[in-house]
Amino acid sequence: MQQLPEHISKATWKRFKQAADQYETPFLLLDLDIVREKYQELELSFDYAGIYYAVKANPADEVVQLLADLGSSFDIASVYELDKVLAFGVTPERMSFGNTIKKASDIAYFYERGVRMYATDSEADLRNIARFAPGSKVYIRILTEGSEGADWPLSRKFGCNPDMAVELAVLARELGLEPWGISFHVGSQQRDIDVWDAAIAKVKFIFERLHKEHDIALQMINMGGGFPASYLQKTNHLVTYHDEITRFLHENFGDQIPDIVLEPGRSLVGDAGVLVSEVVLISRKSTTALERWVYLDVGKFSGLIETMDEAIKYQVSTECTGAQEAVILAGPTCDSMDIMYEHHKYELPLSLEMGDRVYWFSTGAYTTSYSSIEFNGFPPLKQYVI
Ligand SMILES: *Cc1c(COP(=O)(O)O)cnc(C)c1O
Repeated sequence: MQQLPEHISKATWKRFKQAADQYETPFLLLDLDIVREKYQELELSFDYAGIYYAVKANPADEVVQLLADLGSSFDIASVYELDKVLAFGVTPERMSFGNTIKKASDIAYFYERGVRMYATDSEADLRNIARFAPGSKVYIRILTEGSEGADWPLSRKFGCNPDMAVELAVLARELGLEPWGISFHVGSQQRDIDVWDAAIAKVKFIFERLHKEHDIALQMINMGGGFPASYLQKTNHLVTYHDEITRFLHENFGDQIPDIVLEPGRSLVGDAGVLVSEVVLISRKSTTALERWVYLDVGKFSGLIETMDEAIKYQVSTECTGAQEAVILAGPTCDSMDIMYEHHKYELPLSLEMGDRVYWFSTGAYTTSYSSIEFNGFPPLKQYVI
């Protein structure tokens, strides 16, 4: 093996490899033991928080079933996710409708099935919630800046400014809803823990204004996701996230910390996945070109969309050994944007040949769910669970 990532033990690799050898590439292998460990680690460290899994990160039946059995709640974004999670016997009290962009008919659908917790960030959506999910709890999502530390930002499109959050909470009460809390998402794969501090301070300001000026006592802070998986760029350990975020909460709220909700996606399933691909072609663009192009049977349209602008840098390895040289890694489709890494220089052994396997580590999150249906006829990325 060229090199195993730090977080993959020899024993884990052996398990992956044994399973991987049974299947034709390309596919994602997901180790449920790792998902379980990650969930339990988060639950143990943030023992004061409710965990709502963000289903979009990896919606596999086995993942939903496992997390349902472990007692997780679920952050649901569409009627399709709702039906899926309900089918595993999860009761609606363990779900929130976390998408701020939804049709009136979707709200009615959630309400009929018993969901009573809704995210919002606009007046029009709030009025729809009041009409189609009367009496429900609402939490208001605020914008967070400083998403620079996030490798996959989620700001701008979602959330409103704090003044508007105050107005929406007041309006929610007028409309017969229960203004319940404030949410934010600091950006996915957030490497800068300090952005939670700024976000929590904003939430504190909103809590105080609502309390003092409007006699509204909010109960909950939904701190979204942002916890890391293990990619090339190093991050702090989860325990450091916990210690720092807990300190920020106490600095702002003293001993009276509101109910805390976390919505992890990437950090629960990312490290549990290995994407197994095969080299289709190796070429040079001229006889003197220094870099080889390595074309694989996976690319941007079969699960690796987060390599867009080389945002997420996965750890990539082969079983070849010996001297290494810089490569450009590209996918198999007829679209010139189907190049994963060109600027960041990945090095692969010169002994690598067409037909050899290339392994992509920590690919359990945002791969299968992003894979396209039939681009150039290629089927969506398969997933096998061990
Ligand atoms: C995608 C999403 C999450 C999950 O974020 P991660 O960074 O993957 O943990 C959580 N909450 C909301 C509202 C989301 O849209």
